[in-house]
Amino acid sequence: MAKIFAIANQKGGVGKTTTTVNLAAALAALSRRVLLIDLDPQGNATMGSGIDKRSLPGSVYQLLLGLSPMPSVLRRSETGRYDVIPANRELAGAELDLVELERRETRLKGAIAPYLKDYDFVLIDCPPALSLLTLNGLTAAHGVIIPMQCEYYALEGLSDLVNTIKQVHRNLNHDLEIIGLLRVMFDPRSTLANQVSAQLESHFGDKVFKTLVPRNIRLAEAPSYGMPGVVFDKSSKGAQAYVAFAAEMVERFSGDVPATAAPLLAIEPEPMIEPAA
Ligand code: ATP
Ligand code: MG
Repeated sequence: MAKIFAIANQKGGVGKTTTTVNLAAALAALSRRVLLIDLDPQGNATMGSGIDKRSLPGSVYQLLLGLSPMPSVLRRSETGRYDVIPANRELAGAELDLVELERRETRLKGAIAPYLKDYDFVLIDCPPALSLLTLNGLTAAHGVIIPMQCEYYALEGLSDLVNTIKQVHRNLNHDLEIIGLLRVMFDPRSTLANQVSAQLESHFGDKVFKTLVPRNIRLAEAPSYGMPGVVFDKSSKGAQAYVAFAAEMVERFSGDVPATAAPLLAIEPEPMIEPAA
């Protein structure tokens, strides 16, 4: 049965979409059957997978509103070799439309449930908000991957995200746990980045993924070619990091029960990272 992960952080531009697209393609390269769900009206994961968001016959919007079943909105990323439930601006209206409906937080979970046997991994790219769309992503998932930049304000906002995850865990989805923090756009020459990175490790232990994703221009260039970075330039440092991250995920989730996953509440975001003077 598929393992389902939401890639979430309500901060904008922290690398959620880059992580989702590249992890999807790297898992596919490891012969895993992958479904990527774009839950962001920006449609960046759709475009980055080589699918034109401006000419979609159907999208995650129809799926959430129960207007179309999953097979009729499903697309294939030919560049990444994974399936995609795409999104575009139409999804921006879903927030309002969903409020009117019953089971508004469990719509995505219900819509994908019959098709999970076809996949090993399902990755959900969440929008930069703790919105009803993100709630649908968290309710459908087994775990949350949180991309973070190693900067002074790295932890700001993390407590809001963790509180939302706790509420979803309590009220809607008892399976949900935080799988880990992924350090992205890492600059190894920056003293501050190294300090914050080390402090994340000491605070959060095995909730911090071993893989560090460096800042790498090839990852940023790839979407304009409609390709995941791991396909666009396999030899780049960014691509290699996402391949290592995919291997880390496969190792951790090859069995049914994640061997190293600590309980949900192990992350306590209170202590602020204080960079040394
Ligand atoms: P949003 O909150 O708007 O959805 P996001 O969290 O999905 O943003 P991305 O779109 O993945 O973030 O990344 C933001 C920008 O940073 C993009 O231009 C992307 O190409 C670039 N970027 C992401 N990761 C890296 C990296 N490791 N190296 C260099 N550039 C990166
Ligand atoms: Mg994004």
